[in-house]
Amino acid sequence: MEKIANYIGGKLVPPLDEKYIQNISPTNGKAYSLVPDSQSNDVETAILSARQAFLSWSKSSVEFRYKWLIKLAEAIDKHSEQLVIAESFDNGKPVWLAKSVDIPRCSANIRFFATSILHFDSKCHNMGDLALNYTLKQPIGVAGCISPWNLPLYLLTWKIAPAIAAGNTVVAKPSELTPYTAYLLSKICIEIGFPSGVINIVHGLGYSAGDAIVQQADIISFTGGTETGRLIAKNAASVFKKCSLELGGKNPSIVFADCNFDLAVETVMKGGFLNQGQICLCGSRVFIENSIYNKFRNAIVKKTNQLLVGDPNKDSSDLGAVISEKQLNKVLFKIKEAEKEGGHVLCGGKRAQLDGELSNGYYLLPTIIENTKYNSTINQEEIFGPVITIMPFKNESDLIMMCNSTKYGLSASIFSNNISKSHRIAAKIDAGVVWINTWLLRDLRIPFGGMKESGLGREGGFHSLNFFTETKNVCLKIEQTKNK
Ligand code: NAD
Repeated sequence: MEKIANYIGGKLVPPLDEKYIQNISPTNGKAYSLVPDSQSNDVETAILSARQAFLSWSKSSVEFRYKWLIKLAEAIDKHSEQLVIAESFDNGKPVWLAKSVDIPRCSANIRFFATSILHFDSKCHNMGDLALNYTLKQPIGVAGCISPWNLPLYLLTWKIAPAIAAGNTVVAKPSELTPYTAYLLSKICIEIGFPSGVINIVHGLGYSAGDAIVQQADIISFTGGTETGRLIAKNAASVFKKCSLELGGKNPSIVFADCNFDLAVETVMKGGFLNQGQICLCGSRVFIENSIYNKFRNAIVKKTNQLLVGDPNKDSSDLGAVISEKQLNKVLFKIKEAEKEGGHVLCGGKRAQLDGELSNGYYLLPTIIENTKYNSTINQEEIFGPVITIMPFKNESDLIMMCNSTKYGLSASIFSNNISKSHRIAAKIDAGVVWINTWLLRDLRIPFGGMKESGLGREGGFHSLNFFTETKNVCLKIEQTKNK
């Protein structure tokens, strides 16, 4: 079986203890490669290599970094077909999705920050004849970049790109469940001769390799679950390490009676089930205005029943496999739990059985549940699977109360043709990102992140570059002369 390698100091290297874990494809439930079970000693080697590279990379010009990032983006585009197939097989997502979203976004992330750094500026606070304050934005050191399995290379590059554009070097760890495209990225770096030690990739489990990165890196950018984020924040806080946390969500989709009905049905469904519902921004709680509740319920159930769960290689498959057997069982358990709490499953609710080679894959039917209380477990905890609940609402104050009842605050979508009302609701919702009459429309410059237990800090554009730099004010006193 193929052994994935760590990428340290510009080279592919095995884990020092020669320990591996199996990498299973969710598409068929079979192990197909081995992932390094890296330990603290591997991370230490990677950190050393990154520290060494920092000495020159941090001093290099922005034009130099821009050129290398663009070269990397171009190489990713050149290998996009291979990356698409690998991402789909490793994660279970349909090939069409990896091809239209994940992999194009990797090179887009890198291009975006390659050019952003050219425009990144700093402030000057002029004290007239007395002094001049100017602000330096300096790279910090070794950035630890830890990412989850749902958008594997997309989220890893979203962290690596701003970190290195700003002059830091990186030790990155993809999820142990989806390591393969990060491994391919290592090979691409080697192929183009990317400066050694600027990007290091260490594979392994969270509590060992991940924790070692948190302990040893100078700054941490993490995307993943809220409980992991809590642990990382605690560990980083004791040494005042700068930390950006993009965590879980339990996002509301809000449908008003005055919406564009067809658009709302289509977008709410997509927002619930894209990537098998495994996007932190998925709208898993759908609040529908009373007067159109039945009409909306019937329409979304009808459309969802038409979605095809199938072979990820086929364009006709709307949904592929969920990430793991553990996740499949967790989602099925959550559905049963909702039923026990009075929920009524309108469609889905069970495994989708595929044939032949794919019969042991982790496929789930998209599921809609009604008759759940806003404060029931299913509406309070993140499930991270193809499951949405639908609930009626009577008035704006009830709606806001229900929307804001969870510990999360990541995103929300509002569907209404009344601009003033949409604006009013958007301002009252606990969320870092609100969409009106759309979902997942992303501009890479905007501040992206969550409030409450959905995260700490904002990513995107200059927000990322600010995070990955230390701000230093220099006050230059101007010498006063009596005679000019
Ligand atoms: P996870 O928290 O289990 O793992 C994420 C990463 O952290 C993995 O690489 C893992 O190995 C590592 N890790 C685990 N324990 C660690 C520790 N103690 N120290 C350091 N690293 C550790 O999350 P997951 O199951 O991979 O991903 C799903 C979660 O990610 C969901 O909650 C989802 O909402 C969230 N997510 C959030 C965003 C966002 O932008 N807010 C985006 C995507 C996913």
